[in-house]
Formats: sequence, structure tokens, C-alpha cells
Amino acid sequence: MTADVEARAKAEFGATVRMETAPLSNAEMIEAMKAYDVVMPSLKDQFSAEVFAAVGADLRCKLLANFGVGYNHIDVAAAKAAGVAVTNTPGAVTDATADIAMTLILMTARRAGEGERIVRAGKWEGWHPVQFLGAHVSGKHVGILGMGRIGQAIARRCHYGFGMDVSYLARSEKDLDFPAERMRDAKELAQIVDFLIVAVPASPETQHLVDAEILDAMKDTAFLVNIARGEVVDEHALIAALEAGKIAGAGLDVYEFEPKVPEALKQRENVTLLPHLGTAAEEVRSQMGHMALDNIAAFVAGRDLPNLIV
Ligand code: NAP
Repeated sequence: MTADVEARAKAEFGATVRMETAPLSNAEMIEAMKAYDVVMPSLKDQFSAEVFAAVGADLRCKLLANFGVGYNHIDVAAAKAAGVAVTNTPGAVTDATADIAMTLILMTARRAGEGERIVRAGKWEGWHPVQFLGAHVSGKHVGILGMGRIGQAIARRCHYGFGMDVSYLARSEKDLDFPAERMRDAKELAQIVDFLIVAVPASPETQHLVDAEILDAMKDTAFLVNIARGEVVDEHALIAALEAGKIAGAGLDVYEFEPKVPEALKQRENVTLLPHLGTAAEEVRSQMGHMALDNIAAFVAGRDLPNLIV
């Protein structure tokens, strides 16, 4: 946690802070749920049905106040069955994650990573008219897969900032303050856009939503950007599509088997690879922490939890 959040957690709730950054082991999760009233997990802590089952009757924990908006690492049905509430931190993450999507769009289309590597390697021989020609971003057509909070923040940036046309896929029609066309399915969306941005949560329904068929449907000049969760994109199919030149490039903040990043991706110049930076800004991580602590404060006071999932 940021210093600010850690100080409040200790002062307000007498919190114990775990200093290691590695994910919690099953044994640690089981122990934590036996020893504490509230646990604040984050995205790599896999609170599976097996973990809840192993805690059994020794359960003390009544709330998992997740630090983050995505909660696919928590088996919410098992939590509910065990009588453990789950909350998250929506909203706090939205703008920062949309900014990282724009970073990936620009870096990948304009070959910024590749150019930066050339400069650092001392291999830049000076400007010339046809050097490092990338794809123009302004005025292009963006497709948003998942028009929720983050999807809309990306679309707004693309429309107002870059004069782009916006199309999208969501389960429901959206009332938006900018023009955007809703498509019937992921394939229809993939076929028409220059940038396909993945912004859906990971779930059984969205697992490999972007598979070989969707990548095949994309224009060979189009780019894929994923700021949501690695599981939504079939990484094997993505590598095959890049190698076959079926798409022009990819910008990734998340990976299917994070933190493992396949060599085949690392070796490609037309792929931008970021280490899950979506919300990595001091103010944003503090806001997320405070949001999680606000849920805990409500729980302690017996009030309704502001960001209750189950
Ligand atoms: P959100 O507001 O819940 O939006 C999710 C959107 O996805 C909604 O428009 C939803 O449609 C749509 N959707 C869900 N399932 C779908 C399906 N099966 N088919 C088509 N559309 C579907 O969530 P958010 O706050 O924007 O966050 C999205 C995700 O981003 C999070 O779950 C998290 O995993 C990820 N994230 C990543 C980072 C990072 O560091 N890279 C940071 C923050 C969040 P409806 O509106 O019709 O329900």
C-alpha cells in the first residue's frame, strides 16, 4: 500500500500489513481468513473455492475488501456461500487505465518502443523522410470491446482527443455523450476497426473472447490493445496472428499467464509490452486504497458497503 493508505489502515483498524509483494499462498490465505475480520486482497491472490473450503468452520473473516476493480481472482459464489462479503474499487482506476490504453495505442501505432530502443542502442542515424513510418492514429476507427467505465473513458479520449470514430460491444445499449455505434458481436466489431481495445472483465463468458477467429477477422493493418485481463485474449492465437501478419501489431498491459510473457512476443518489434501499469500512479493507488478502507469502515460501522459485489 502507499504510505498514506498504510497509515490510515493502521490508525483506523489496527491493520497488520504484509510487506512481501508476491501473491498470497493458499496457506497464507487460509490463515488470514482464520485470523482476521477483514482481508484486503489484490489481483494475484487466488481466493478459490478450495481456499474457502479449507478454512471451513474456523472462518473469522467477514469481508474481502479487494484492492482493485477486477475481482476474477475471487470465487465470489464460494465467498457468498461462506458468508464473506466482497467489495472492489471501481471508478478510482478508470482514467489511469484509459490513459495506459492511449499510451499503448500511440506507442504501438507510432513505433515508439522500437524507436526508443534504436536511440538507446546508439543506432539512430538521423532523420530521413521514410524512417520508422508507423500508422497514423488521429481520425481512425476504434472498437471498444466492453463499453463500461474504462471502455467509455477510452472512447471519450479517442473521440474528443483524436477525432476517431467509435464502435463498441457491450451486453447492453449505452447512453453515451459521444457518437458510437453498438455492434452485434465481437467479430462484426473486429472486422471494421483500426484499433480493437479489450476492456471487458475476465469471466467464464469472456475467456478467449479474442481468439483466432476474431484476430483473423481484423484488418491486417489493425492493432489489438489489451488493458483488461490476459485471459480475455488467446495469447497463443495472438502470437500466430502476429507471425502470419494477420494484424499490424499489439499493445499489451496484461498477459494470459502473468507475469510470464512469451519470448515470441518479446522478440516482435510491432508489439508494445507493459508490466500491468494500468493503475500505477501514486494518487490512483492511494485512491484505490482509501476506497477499500471506506468499504472496511462501513463494514465496521454496520453500514451498507459502498462497493458491494456479493
Ligand atoms: P465495467 O464498468 O464493469 O465494464 C465492463 C464492460 O464489459 C461493460 O460494458 C460490460 O457490458 C462489458 N461486458 C462484460 N461482459 C461482457 C461480455 N460477455 N460480452 C460483451 N461485453 C461484456 O468494468 P471497468 O471498470 O470498465 O473495468 C473493466 C476491467 O478492466 C476490469 O474488470 C479489470 O479486469 C480491468 N482493469 C485492468 C486494469 C489494468 O491495470 N490494466 C486496471 C483496472 C481495470 P454491460 O455494461 O452491458 O454489462
